Amino acid sequence: MKIVDMDSVSISYNGETALDNISLEIDAGERIVILGPSGCGKTTILRLVAGFIAPDTGSISIAGEPVSRNRHIIKPPEQRGLGMVFQDLALWPHLSVTGNIEFGLKAKGFPKVERKRRIRRILNLVGMDGYAKRKPAELSGGQQQRVALARALAPEPKVLLMDEPLSSLDLELNVRLRKEILRLQEKLGFGLLYVTHDRDEAFDIASRVVFMKRGRIDDVRSIAFSRDKKG
Ligand code: ADP
Repeated sequence: MKIVDMDSVSISYNGETALDNISLEIDAGERIVILGPSGCGKTTILRLVAGFIAPDTGSISIAGEPVSRNRHIIKPPEQRGLGMVFQDLALWPHLSVTGNIEFGLKAKGFPKVERKRRIRRILNLVGMDGYAKRKPAELSGGQQQRVALARALAPEPKVLLMDEPLSSLDLELNVRLRKEILRLQEKLGFGLLYVTHDRDEAFDIASRVVFMKRGRIDDVRSIAFSRDKKG
């Protein structure tokens, strides 16, 4: 099943085309990485799928339901069943790890017992058992990254959107977290839409790499044998 379907989407800012007739489909459980230089339109695609902005023309559907069409947001971000991790992790500094994860679960109306169950499970999955009470400032960069992942995944989104989530980390940690993302994706089965300008990162993570250039899709490549790289 198509979990995300962008159909002929265009958008411009102040008369300058940012995306020109983009069509992109994500199957359930697929890992799409959008790769391209700064300014080519990668983040704009994520913001459109997230529902922060609407396309000028074209339409977007998630899990078979239209969410945006022709300058109109049909479903707002919180009703799209998405998780998001951006480079600026935007963890709440005054809340503990548990508090950060619970915040979104509360907003989505999960009852307390279920919230606690999900927090325990996801902290275990991201290898953060034992850190539940810490504040973000008491964690390393990699640990903060795991908390951001846990927070995004706790509501069990159909799609996870990630915008350059590892680019502030040193290479060793970056490579380690690529493997973590693959492992979590395999275990939980969400569709992944991941944006980066780093070719190595793209090829490590993707099942399909979408090459972008100046607001257009330049090439698409399926990555075979990605299993061998998980180590
Ligand atoms: P990338 O993520 O690949 O670096 P973006 O999607 O952020 O690229 O931007 C694509 C183009 O759209 C760029 O030329 C950028 O300057 C422009 N752009 C993006 N957002 C805005 C905005 N809010 N206002 C004006 N121009 C924007």
